[in-house]
Amino acid sequence: MARFQGKTAFITGGGSGIGAATVRRLFDEGANVVVADLQQENANRVVAELGGGDRLLAVDVSDDGQVVAAFEAARQRFGAVDYLVNAAGIKGWGSASDTTDELWRSNMGANLDGSFHTCRAYAQASEGRDSGAVVNISSQAGLEGLPARLPYVTSKHGVIGLTRAAAMDLAPRGIRVNCVAPGIINSPFTEAMFADPERARKMRAAYPIGREGRPEEVASVIAFLLSEDASFMTGAVVPVDGGITAGAASF
Ligand code: NAP
Repeated sequence: MARFQGKTAFITGGGSGIGAATVRRLFDEGANVVVADLQQENANRVVAELGGGDRLLAVDVSDDGQVVAAFEAARQRFGAVDYLVNAAGIKGWGSASDTTDELWRSNMGANLDGSFHTCRAYAQASEGRDSGAVVNISSQAGLEGLPARLPYVTSKHGVIGLTRAAAMDLAPRGIRVNCVAPGIINSPFTEAMFADPERARKMRAAYPIGREGRPEEVASVIAFLLSEDASFMTGAVVPVDGGITAGAASF
């Protein structure tokens, strides 16, 4: 099925993990994909899989000037950008007492400012068009508090607010804005969390489905939300988390 034939998707963080799985999924479904990422090496590898080409843009999403320039470069190379996926992000471990300003700002910069910058650039670039879709990536940490992850949790709650507010503004223009909230997904982002086998066992046991997720299992939901299959969805927050936020664990 080629749900995205003739469409162009701009995907931040497309060089790794969930972003890379989304790049592959949308490409397989016919999209022309633009990969925006910090990580040249990984992103180069992903772009090479798609046959290379001029698809890679080096962008730090926390810097608005770079984001605006990247959208302009995408427009010049490929014409209009139909879809935006915000998969760039970093984690930040710090509690209410020991989070430094630097950690707070880096999390806000990559996770929240970044999604804001790209949403604004996309909305401006889409002036005069009457369709489009955005998917942001929040987290389980955007739906509930988690200990010792204060800057990350705060930024991911912010991504949900950004999604809902942008959905209200852009719905009259036919642009839908939704958000996924993944639980633990196996990617470079979480690699270190699985280094200790006992900790890994406990994490998996906490999930009703009994395991962590795969990047492809998030990418398929992102593809659904971008597609016309989700034509009556906007401002939605969709957990992709093996059921961990659906209810309290039994004990
Ligand atoms: P990942 O494998 O680490 O990929 C994130 C990508 O974003 C990397 O290529 C990274 O580049 C890039 N990036 C980081 N900061 C950036 C910036 N300022 N500008 C541009 N690119 C930047 O992580 P992932 O697991 O795919 O996570 C993707 C998103 O899902 C993140 O927003 C994360 O918070 C969210 N999420 C992940 C999980 C999970 O368990 N994996 C769960 C819930 C939510 P570098 O590698 O060079 O840093």
